[in-house]
Amino acid sequence: MKQGWHSILRPGVQGGSTSFIGGKPCLPPSVPLPVCKICGEPLTFFFQAAFPEGHMWAGKSLALFFCSATYQKHKDKEQLPRPVHADTKNDFDIPAGELAPDFYQTMFRAIVFDTAEGALREDYQERVAYQEIEWEPRKAKDKKTPIILGGEPIWTGIKKYGKERPASYGGKPMGLLLQVAENFNFEKMPDAPPEMEEDFMGDEAFAAREEPNYTLFYEFNRVYLWGPEDPSDPVVYINVQNDI
Ligand SMILES: [Zn+2]
Repeated sequence: MKQGWHSILRPGVQGGSTSFIGGKPCLPPSVPLPVCKICGEPLTFFFQAAFPEGHMWAGKSLALFFCSATYQKHKDKEQLPRPVHADTKNDFDIPAGELAPDFYQTMFRAIVFDTAEGALREDYQERVAYQEIEWEPRKAKDKKTPIILGGEPIWTGIKKYGKERPASYGGKPMGLLLQVAENFNFEKMPDAPPEMEEDFMGDEAFAAREEPNYTLFYEFNRVYLWGPEDPSDPVVYINVQNDI
């Protein structure tokens, strides 16, 4: 079984750590803070991971932003990234160009950069409570670990839908960058705007979620991020699975 790195979360004050949940992102100063291409709202910063030595993207970091203003607000087809190959099962090729961030990343943004170039972005107002991440090298398949870098995908879906594992991008081999556990939510700062959900009982179309957290691609989904093994074009493919 392939080596993975399991997250250990620790409360703390944001300082020099290069892997963490919430707080302010550390990005190269020249990178603009991302906005949602569907609704135009600023995207919420969820977490960033510095890939450790031994990971296929060692030396790089990935910061993940997602549109939390709009839980169930975007149309169904926009809630998840455009399905590149919704009908495929496993080990498929994604044609070159289909994962270009400007084209593929609509309600989320995965910003990839050399870890050494990250600088604290004071121009971002934090929405998710800060927690430091320490990575523990492990081979176990522990589905409750919030974030796992590398390793093997832990599939949760119903078998008939397949595993949707991409094999290559433009013919170049792909691997698992990281996965985020199902039912893992991100604690919201008290003054941050609430996530919105469909209002089934009231008069308005949407109402604030009462839970004091944000969900990433719905709380019941396990989220997988894939990328080319060669990080010279560090694009990201996202898919999700659930057993609902
Ligand atoms: Zn949006």
